[in-house]
Amino acid sequence: MKIAVIGAGLTGLRVANELRDYSKIKIFENDQVGGLLASYYNGYRIEKFYHHLFKTDSELLEVIKKFGLDHKLVWKTVRVGFAVGDEIFSLSTPLEILGYPHMSLFDKLRLAIFTLRSKRLNYEDFDDESASSAIKKRFSGRVVDHFFMPMLKAKFGDNAEIVSFAWLLARVAIRSNRKLRGEEIGYIRHGFQQLVDRMAEGLEIVKESARIKFSGKWLVNGEEFDAVVFTAPIPALGELAKDFNLPSIRYQSSICALLSLKESISDLYWINVDKANFGALIEHTNFMPFEDYGEHLVYLASYSMPDGGLFNQSDLEIQKLFLKDLKRFGVEEEDVNWIKISKAKYSSPIYEKGFLKKITPYKVHEGFYIAGMTSKPNYPERSMNGSLRAGKEVAERIKKDFGLENS
Ligand SMILES: Cc1cc2nc3c(=O)[nH]c(=O)nc-3n(C[C@H](O)[C@H](O)[C@H](O)COP(=O)(O)OP(=O)(O)OC[C@H]3O[C@@H](n4cnc5c(N)ncnc54)[C@H](O)[C@@H]3O)c2cc1C
Repeated sequence: MKIAVIGAGLTGLRVANELRDYSKIKIFENDQVGGLLASYYNGYRIEKFYHHLFKTDSELLEVIKKFGLDHKLVWKTVRVGFAVGDEIFSLSTPLEILGYPHMSLFDKLRLAIFTLRSKRLNYEDFDDESASSAIKKRFSGRVVDHFFMPMLKAKFGDNAEIVSFAWLLARVAIRSNRKLRGEEIGYIRHGFQQLVDRMAEGLEIVKESARIKFSGKWLVNGEEFDAVVFTAPIPALGELAKDFNLPSIRYQSSICALLSLKESISDLYWINVDKANFGALIEHTNFMPFEDYGEHLVYLASYSMPDGGLFNQSDLEIQKLFLKDLKRFGVEEEDVNWIKISKAKYSSPIYEKGFLKKITPYKVHEGFYIAGMTSKPNYPERSMNGSLRAGKEVAERIKKDFGLENS
């Protein structure tokens, strides 16, 4: 049996690993192996887009162990905060949150109760409600305008109003994994690239953009396959998406700048930033040791629509806009050693209300399977964990459909 896997991100690599003992596998990847988890090399490896994991990421933890990297897994309680104007407020400890001047005590209490409750709710029950109308019902205008809407706008831009309450609840629950000193998150020391490399070892990966056709059998770039597993974003399917009757899914783009700085900006790992061209400032070397890199590494993260806004600006223009906003934090151009910009056109589906109905089934046609960011395990927020699970689940489905289990 021969299977074509389209995309060598985590989903594609997982599918291939789950099926490699049963079938000949060929992976088609038109960019970098690792997909959104790909890294730069600068004497060390560093992700193009910031990445960390959570204790609840059971699938990812299992895969890390399976590929012999559990000894490199580190957990750290990091400090997080919010920047209003040129002031940075640490919101890492209960005391700091209590002292935060831009919210009343009553609002803070309501927020704390909401956070605790969000962990116990079934997100799917809130799929048909928009986050903006749900929070307006529950919170004062001040919390809506100064806390929730900036967070939604930073992540979804013009689509902030249509995002589902299910997404917001999941987001709040996952970001509230708090210890008394801050938020606990994990990382594979020296980079996730080690996981990508181990998962890719021994697999046939060709650097080609996949053109898929059906003529009695599935053809990828002219070669016949018994089955195709498509793990790239749905728009890359082109006309096939219509043939499969897939609902249209809106995506957003990510723009991430990675900077090497002469000095650290603060002692916080993650700062949400108000009214800037980037929505978050993430100081990686406040998470992993400075000595691993020998320079201060900072991400500036922004989201935009694929057909407009920041995504379509040149790298140079983005760099200028970001550096202008960085001045707020006392960083001048001469304080920057280097800056690299990465963009991902389809970096996440927009989890708009009613998204549950848009989830892509694994099997869409005889011999054609889809898994990845729009699969059920990635609802209501995509993650490394969700993609690894989708990869495993689609492989199980293929084994069942082709009777591969007992061979
Ligand atoms: C800014 C940012 C920060 C993130 N932070 C985190 C985090 O902290 N924690 C976390 O768990 N997750 C995080 N994620 C999400 C995580 O990176 C993704 O959910 C996961 O890596 C997706 O894997 P995937 O294989 O499903 O998709 P992708 O990584 O998108 O893989 C799809 C692959 O298909 C390839 N492809 C596309 N078209 C074609 C074609 N025509 N032919 C051949 N190949 C093609 C692409 O090049 C790509 O390599 C983040 C994502 C972003 C953008």
